[in-house]
Amino acid sequence: MVGGGIAGASAAYFAAHSGWAVTLLDAGEGRASDVPAALLNPVRGQSGHVEPRSLAGLRCTWALIAELEAAGHPVAHGRTGVRRPVPDEKTRRKWQARLPAELPHVWRDPAGLPSGWHSVLDLPEGGWVGGGALVAALVAASGARVVRGRATQVWAGGARLEGGDTLGAERVLCCGGSFGAALSGTAGGLHRAGSLLLLNKAPARPLSFGAYLSPARSGGVLGATFETPAQGHAAALAPGLPLRSLAWLLDKGTALSDLRGVNVTGRWTGVRLSPLRCGPDDSGVWHLSGLGSKGFLLGPLLAREVVGEMTLLS
Ligand SMILES: Cc1cc2nc3c(=O)[nH]c(=O)nc-3n(C[C@H](O)[C@H](O)[C@H](O)COP(=O)(O)OP(=O)(O)OC[C@H]3O[C@@H](n4cnc5c(N)ncnc54)[C@H](O)[C@@H]3O)c2cc1C
Repeated sequence: MVGGGIAGASAAYFAAHSGWAVTLLDAGEGRASDVPAALLNPVRGQSGHVEPRSLAGLRCTWALIAELEAAGHPVAHGRTGVRRPVPDEKTRRKWQARLPAELPHVWRDPAGLPSGWHSVLDLPEGGWVGGGALVAALVAASGARVVRGRATQVWAGGARLEGGDTLGAERVLCCGGSFGAALSGTAGGLHRAGSLLLLNKAPARPLSFGAYLSPARSGGVLGATFETPAQGHAAALAPGLPLRSLAWLLDKGTALSDLRGVNVTGRWTGVRLSPLRCGPDDSGVWHLSGLGSKGFLLGPLLAREVVGEMTLLS
């Protein structure tokens, strides 16, 4: 596995459980999966779009967390449900039309929220997870040999590292995310930065519209991926957190909850990549990257499937 974010760590876990001896090569840089709290939210953005495989992805991630915890690898998470307030009747109708019958949901009054919301879509199967905690648990539980280093070239039977060493393998799966886009042939993809403000407290259940407010392992977060997309990891990171972005984020957060008395204790910034790349290329190298804002919703499910396909070739 080249890349040890949620894609590579999930793949390492499933491959090890299928009997492979796994080496995980990771540069230790630019990992979007270290997001302090990621939502598991099947109803996307402000459009209310529901990915066809969201429910399967959601259940796969929860099952994985339960399996890791049962095996003694704790993962900070909350299977609390996710609340999605909508501003007006038109948005509610649009979302309602997109909700598949099999996705458990309840519409409620916006009781307890700041004024201005029409109603709240309650998604009881959603929740949040500490990104770094889940990745660390997956790597530990996989028993993979972890090699720190940056691949400069990959081929079907191995990888070359910065400095010239090579690693051999029967199969190679590239999961480099935004930082490793050149390796997965998605250098021309869209790299989008976003930031989370770390908070000393947060509502007990995540709330999301525009931005999200979520509990985290300690305190909470207010975050979103909102900067203008750039063509490259470094270009996306360049602005850091401009003041206008801070103002935008605080404005979205204040609309979701009364933030008086809440302190900002830090900041985390990451870059996500899209579009999705999943499967083998012409040279026989496998890829799983470009998970966009759904890394924790769909990453483990797709990793399990890719590893299954790689294993079938044996
Ligand atoms: C602000 C923000 C909020 C988000 N919120 C959510 C959310 O609420 N819910 C959700 O599901 N998703 C969320 N996401 C998206 C999610 O974080 C990503 O989709 C996911 O983390 C991508 O995982 P990945 O494994 O593909 O890539 P990454 O996590 O970026 O991991 C890639 C790894 O590969 C390594 N690597 C790269 N190139 C090389 C190389 N050449 N050699 C060796 N190693 C290499 C890197 O060092 C890195 O460790 C959010 C993202 C951001 C930025």
